[in-house]
This record gives sequence, C-alpha cells and structure tokens, in this order.
Amino acid sequence: MPGAVQNAICVDADDLAGSVHEAGLGRHPGDSDVAGETHALLEAFDALGLRATFFVPGHFVQDAPDLVRVMAASGHEVASHGTRHSPVSHFSPAEFLEDVRTSRCALEDLVGRRVETYKAPIWSITPRCLWAYDVLLEAGIRVDHSAMPGVVAGLGRRRGELEPFRYRDELVVIPVTTVEVLGFALPFPGGFYNAWVPAAIQQRVYDGINRRKLPFNFYFHPFEHSPAPSKRRLVKYRSLYVSLYAAHSGRYRSILARMAERYPLGTLESAYARWLTPSSVGGDIET
Ligand SMILES: [Zn+2]
Repeated sequence: MPGAVQNAICVDADDLAGSVHEAGLGRHPGDSDVAGETHALLEAFDALGLRATFFVPGHFVQDAPDLVRVMAASGHEVASHGTRHSPVSHFSPAEFLEDVRTSRCALEDLVGRRVETYKAPIWSITPRCLWAYDVLLEAGIRVDHSAMPGVVAGLGRRRGELEPFRYRDELVVIPVTTVEVLGFALPFPGGFYNAWVPAAIQQRVYDGINRRKLPFNFYFHPFEHSPAPSKRRLVKYRSLYVSLYAAHSGRYRSILARMAERYPLGTLESAYARWLTPSSVGGDIET
C-alpha cells in the first residue's frame, strides 16, 4: 500500500514571527530562528533519505545564503517564495512583478539553476487578485503552487481539482491538495491545516488520492519540524496568531517520519514530472 505514486513535500523556509511581522500582523521578533531550524531539518531529511522543494523568501536569502546553496547541492529543489513575505494584495502589479523577479534572480545567482517555481506567501493569491498569474508569467515563473480551491475555481477548474493544469498554456498550476467533505473541497495542504488531524484520517485521504494514480502534496515550515527552543515560549511573540501557530511546533517530526515510511516522497518537480515540460523544471543556467 498504496502503490508507487511519488508525492511531494514542500517546505516554506519562513521564520514564524518574522513572516507574521512582514505581513503586518505582528511585532518584529528581534531575532530569527529559521536558519538553525532549517539546518536541523536538512539533517533530518538526509537521515530519512528525503528530498523536498524549499520555497525560499527574501529574508532567508539575505540571512542564510549558504544554506540555500546547501539545499541545492544536496538535491533539494529551490523555489521562490517572493522577496517580501507579504500578501499579494498588498502589492500593485508593478510592485509584485519587481518582488518576484528580484526573488528569482537572487535565488538563481545562488544556486546556478533556473528558478521558475513559485508559491505566494500566506496562500495569498485569492480569487480577487487573479491578475497575479499574468504577472508571474511576465516574471518568468512557469510553475505555481499557490492555488487554493477558490483560486482553482477562479481559473475555471473544479474546486477540488488535484491534477495540474495550464494557465495561458505556459504556466503549470499545481493545485494545493484538497479533501472532499460533504461534496465540498477543503484545503488539506499540511502545515497548520493538518497539524491536529488524526493520522488515520490523513492516511485515508492520501491513500485515496494515490489509488487514483495522482500525487498529493503537503508542506510545513522548519519550526513545525525542528523548532528552536524559543518557539516553546509562546508569550515571547505577543501575538495570538503566532502563539496559536506555534502551539504545534515540532509536530511534523513524527508526521514526516510516519509519512516517509508509507509513501514515496520527493520534490514537487519529481512528483509532478509528467505534467511539466523540460522548460518548466529549471535547467542549468548557461554561462
Ligand atoms: Zn510563507
């Protein structure tokens, strides 16, 4: 069980409190734990023999460029999570273009490969800002992994679509994995959403998807797997949102180990290879 379908693990390389601050939702934490947490996560991936897709935001590129190189050198896929970790609706189209382009260029300089896969911060492409897809195309993005069910419907597909599809022929949209409850597609993407869902239920959902010969995708943040000790001091952040989010710090250590035992797991690029063209999976940059 449940067959040889390869599924995708994604990591958003965010510092919890720092990202919340950048999004205008909380105070600046004053320090960042994400580099240490990501280092620990990379070691855990090595121990489990896993490779994942890392969505890397601008603050990570600035603070820990060497770790981005380590990700790529270790066989992980490096993808863009934008420069500023702010909701897309906070940008004008011109500002958003600049943000995504800057992120792509910075990552490509570090890893020496094309970076054409993107995920919006905080799942913030919504049905009200579908213009973002034209901007992503203009910025050179060829694979998007931001689409929650409402966006998938806004792009003309079924809310619960699990198969990738193309936007204007050139951009492959890989929808966030969903589960149908009473005929309604709910996001089932990992992270905060799945943290407290019983293992048996998660297994039933994922087995069902793989039985249809389709991959599922799930994501988490480094602090959800390998939290720095400060993440345990919830009051540090003085933000109810962050405290609630931090309450499941570390839970993904056991979730990931369990998933790795049961399912073939890898990068987004490898799990969805049959929907991607060679030009949309990031070749080496010719020099
Ligand atoms: Zn993020």
